[in-house]
Amino acid sequence: MKIDVIGSGSAFSLTRNTSSILVTDKDDQRWLIDCGPTVPRALWQRALDVNDIDVLYFTHIHPDHCAGLPVLLNRWKSFGRRKPLIIYCQAQQRESLQQLVSLATWPVPHICFDIDWRDSQAQWQWQQWHLSTAATQHEMSNLSLRIEADGHVLFYSGDGRPTDASRALMQGCDLAFQECAVSMPLSKEASHGDVVNCLALQQSLSLPVLALSLLR
Ligand SMILES: [Zn+2]
Repeated sequence: MKIDVIGSGSAFSLTRNTSSILVTDKDDQRWLIDCGPTVPRALWQRALDVNDIDVLYFTHIHPDHCAGLPVLLNRWKSFGRRKPLIIYCQAQQRESLQQLVSLATWPVPHICFDIDWRDSQAQWQWQQWHLSTAATQHEMSNLSLRIEADGHVLFYSGDGRPTDASRALMQGCDLAFQECAVSMPLSKEASHGDVVNCLALQQSLSLPVLALSLLR
C-alpha cells in the first residue's frame, strides 16, 4: 500500500493543501480520501492520468473536505475520462455532493463517465480491500476510515475528536492520520483533536506512526 499525503492543512492554510491522502495498492488501484479546494491542483502536479483514480471517499462535507470535487470532475470531463468512478459518502450527505457534480458539468446534466454512488457502511469489502468506518466527534457527522489492504492497515480520521469507536478503528494500525487542531488540551466536548489527546492516544494504542493533520 502506497500513501501519498496530498495535504495536511486546515481549511484556511496559507501554505498547505487541505487534508487529503491518495492510497494506492499493489495493483495500482487508487482511492482519494477527501477532496478539498486545493487538492485538484496538487493532483495535477502529480501528472496522474484522468483514469488513475478509481474511488473517492468523503469523510464529511465541510467545504475543506469536498469543495474540490467539481473542479476535479471538470478536468476529468475535459480530458475525456471513460473509467467509471465510485464515490462513497454518508447517505444523508450524498445530495449535497451531487449538487457539486452538477456544477462540474452545468448546463449539461451528465458527465462522460459513470458515477456509482455508494453509501458508507460500518464495514464493507471493495476488491481486496476491507473498509470500516466510525464516527468521530465533530460539528457534522464525520466517518473516519480504516483500510486493510495488501497486508497493511491504515486509519484516516477526517475531522473530529477521537471517540471510543474511532479509537477502536485505530487498533493495530500501521499508520494513522488524526486531525488535530491545537497543542493545548481542548474540552471533552470539543469537535477537534488536540496534541495532548493525540499523543495519549498513540501511547495507549501503541501506534507505530500517528500523523497529525493540524488545523491551524
Ligand atoms: Zn469538518
